[in-house]
Amino acid sequence: MTPDELKALVRTVPDFPAPGILFRDITTLISHGAGLAASIGHLAQMAKQAGAAAIAGMEARGFIFGAAVAAHMGLGFVPVRKPGKLPVKTIGIDYALEYGRDRLEIDPTAIPEGQRVVIIDDLIATGGTALAAAELLRMAGASVTHALFVIDLPDLHGAARLRDAGLTVEALMD
Ligand code: AMP
Repeated sequence: MTPDELKALVRTVPDFPAPGILFRDITTLISHGAGLAASIGHLAQMAKQAGAAAIAGMEARGFIFGAAVAAHMGLGFVPVRKPGKLPVKTIGIDYALEYGRDRLEIDPTAIPEGQRVVIIDDLIATGGTALAAAELLRMAGASVTHALFVIDLPDLHGAARLRDAGLTVEALMD
């Protein structure tokens, strides 16, 4: 399936989780077998071009795409988690979100030292989550040069922020 066909599978829900937000819901994309497979295939192609040695994905929707891409490529997956979820000593970072504040944590021993870790998430809005994840993965010794998304919301300029920070950003659709 083409990116345009995949875009038609994304559902838009107004006023969720707060008034004025147009929520781009991937539930309808991932429940479509061919849509899910094609999304993973396109992202895996991008991750291969990026020279990925491992894939990192953000909780929770980044796990869906990131882990599937990692398995497709035969690579390991690094879960970038919400606070308090990992049972070991973590490193963490606080960051601002389109709606609210949040914190990400990783197990630093899960990162292959000095290797290229490619970030995957369902959507980039302000870019705050991906920038925080990149910083966190770098703190753990990873080389982070690429961030891949299913959806980019260009009006929120997140991709531009990431590019200003030196990251290569690609998305399947705007
Ligand atoms: P940001 O840090 O602003 O780039 O926000 C990205 C994260 O928030 C992603 O993990 C998305 O899953 C989620 N998100 C932000 N805005 C939206 C939106 N309008 N629709 C769906 N998910 C969103």
